[in-house]
Amino acid sequence: MKYRAFTLSNFKNIPQIKHLSEEQIFDIEVVGEVLPFKTNNYVIEELIDWAHFETDPIYILTFPQKDMLSNKHYDRMAELIRNGASKSERLETANQIRMELNPNPAGQEHNVPEICGEKLVGLQHKYNETVLFFPSQGQSCHAFCTFCFRWSQFSGISELKFAMKQVDLIIDYIRENPQITDLLITGGDPMIMKTKVFEQYIDALLAADLPNLKTIRIGTKTLGYWPYRYTTDEDASQLLDVFKKIVNKGINLAIMAHFNHINEMSTITAEQAIKKIQATGAIIRTQTPLLKHLNDDADMLARMWRKQVNLGLIPYYLFVARETGAQEYFALNLEEAYNIYRNAYIQVSGICRTVRGPVMSAHPGKVQVAGISEINGEKVFVLNFIQARNTDWVGKPFYAKYNPDALWVNDLEPAFEDKFIFEA
Ligand SMILES: *Cc1c(COP(=O)(O)O)cnc(C)c1O
Ligand code: SF4
Repeated sequence: MKYRAFTLSNFKNIPQIKHLSEEQIFDIEVVGEVLPFKTNNYVIEELIDWAHFETDPIYILTFPQKDMLSNKHYDRMAELIRNGASKSERLETANQIRMELNPNPAGQEHNVPEICGEKLVGLQHKYNETVLFFPSQGQSCHAFCTFCFRWSQFSGISELKFAMKQVDLIIDYIRENPQITDLLITGGDPMIMKTKVFEQYIDALLAADLPNLKTIRIGTKTLGYWPYRYTTDEDASQLLDVFKKIVNKGINLAIMAHFNHINEMSTITAEQAIKKIQATGAIIRTQTPLLKHLNDDADMLARMWRKQVNLGLIPYYLFVARETGAQEYFALNLEEAYNIYRNAYIQVSGICRTVRGPVMSAHPGKVQVAGISEINGEKVFVLNFIQARNTDWVGKPFYAKYNPDALWVNDLEPAFEDKFIFEA
């Protein structure tokens, strides 16, 4: 299949749009001005069930929905459009609304490492063992998720575009920090890069013979949004050869595949792509943000994890939605998230229980809601750091006052103590 993208400017050419009412099309035009909107022919033709598009999870995943904006924001943009406002007027208003949607959560800009006083802008180093790399050519995706917290990178308003070209600086940084074992290449989606570009990075990294570099991870949504990347794209087989090169060097290659729903694993091409990646010796681990309207269904999650294991994938994380973008639309409170996770977890065998959740990837670290309990007559959330900026916090359960409305760690107050361990 040849890739074809659809965005705000051409989505009316999608044949299946005939299923939508004029009002629904207008909603896309309004919300799509603010939240990034991009989908593609694979998503449209093979993933979405157009007979039931209004409740189809993949439709909700890539097409802007009216309720993703507050009424106030919606009305402001709708009025501009009805009055025939110019493109620049619409953009100005869109940027104002975006700024109110917390475009840069969890202070990513705090973890930009330095070398000889020079900031390495395309790197992020927060947890001892793992450094993140945002290659500049990987700052987009084959489609855009309507919940995405990286949307400021796509909509072009970010001051802190995490991106760099200088692979030499990464190599120096990894060499000078022997505690680093993992390089996580992320984006956007790094698998949007042409193989030629990706190969340049990998060749340089492998040639550097970094003794501490044991794992290369690639965070990607391609198995969900464009599995043809590994089958019929013109540089697909070269890409698989690059994967083999990494594996043959003795480095563990982990494809961190982002899935939202079992439907993304239901196509022949997705299964073929998985097999081709596995044939290179790479391992595929999966991560899923838990989102209302999309995948807040314990039975579906249990089926999804079982199917992943059947296909040889390893379930890894179930995330709580970030406090950004259309969060009101997607957010589940921590109690709901915990109950959904647990109700799915109890349905699967130990082989699937590699999945950890629900996890908030927050400023101090990755905080898991490990349970809801009663201690000395007080109802509490039991929390646990799976990763932390200070390793001393990891694996020591701590407690927050039960709060049925809490959506994120910021909404919690410590129980039995004045401060959380990370606030000292
Ligand atoms: C999640 C994350 C990692 C990887 O953490 P693991 O627990 O090793 O998977 C690394 N850096 C940042 C900033 C992260 O958010
Ligand atoms: S694939 Fe990832 S980076 Fe791309 S739009 Fe979706 S959540 Fe954002």
